[in-house]
Amino acid sequence: MLISEGRKTSYIIIEKEKCKACRYCIAVCPKGVIGLSQNINRFGVNYAESIEHKAHECNGCKACAIMCPDLAISVYRSRIPEGGIA
Ligand code: SF4
Ligand code: SF4
Repeated sequence: MLISEGRKTSYIIIEKEKCKACRYCIAVCPKGVIGLSQNINRFGVNYAESIEHKAHECNGCKACAIMCPDLAISVYRSRIPEGGIA
C-alpha cells in the first residue's frame, strides 16, 4: 500500500548579524536559494539572505548550515499533511 508522505517544505533562516559574507553558503547551495543582500550588517558587509523568488526551492539538505563557519544558518523541515493543516 502506498502511503502518501504529504507535501514536504523546507526553508532557512539566516541570522544576518552573524554573517561575515564569506559566501560559502552561496557556493554550496544546490538550488541557488541564497544570495547577498543589498543591505549591510554590523560588520559592514552585504550579508547572505534567502532570495525571495527562490526560497521555495530549498530542499532542506542542510549543506549551507554545515558550511557556515559562523553558525548563522538554521534549516527547518516540515511536512504538510494531505489536505493541508487543520
Ligand atoms: S538547505 Fe540546502 S537547498 Fe536549502 S538553502 Fe541550504 S543548501 Fe540550499
Ligand atoms: S556561510 Fe555563513 S558567514 Fe558565510 S556568507 Fe553564508 S551565512 Fe554568511
